[in-house]
Amino acid sequence: MSRKIEDLDPRCQDAARKTLDALTADDELRNSGVAGWLVVETRRELATQMAYFARGRMAPNHVRMMYDAAGLKQKLTDKETQTAITTTLKSKHLAGLAMDIVPIKADGKAWWDAPTRVWMRMATIAEGFGWESGVRWKDFPDYPHLQWRLS
Ligand SMILES: [Zn+2]
Repeated sequence: MSRKIEDLDPRCQDAARKTLDALTADDELRNSGVAGWLVVETRRELATQMAYFARGRMAPNHVRMMYDAAGLKQKLTDKETQTAITTTLKSKHLAGLAMDIVPIKADGKAWWDAPTRVWMRMATIAEGFGWESGVRWKDFPDYPHLQWRLS
């Protein structure tokens, strides 16, 4: 699991940097309390995707074994192990064609529960740089998720 833009497919690295710059410079986002953006994940190994996929589908101890086998350090609560976070084993992250980003608040903390308008604004700006936003997914919205739709 990587958080580096350099680990993305070379075709979308430039757009990733430009998107983050544009999001950071956006007045509307700044006025909503966004101080910056954090890249939480770019390219992902299959073992990690399988561990994510296990959540909400396997018993808590099995989910934790999958996390451990994938080298993931996060310690999940029982509730988290039973909460589905993905619907696929074929994520664009596997090819380095997706990144997950989250706004940072003025206090420097990741703002996972930012208001919907913040995520919508993020989606609109990112779409202008060639990304598809998980915000738009009707069945299983994935707010931090951006995947490359060009190339
Ligand atoms: Zn994602």
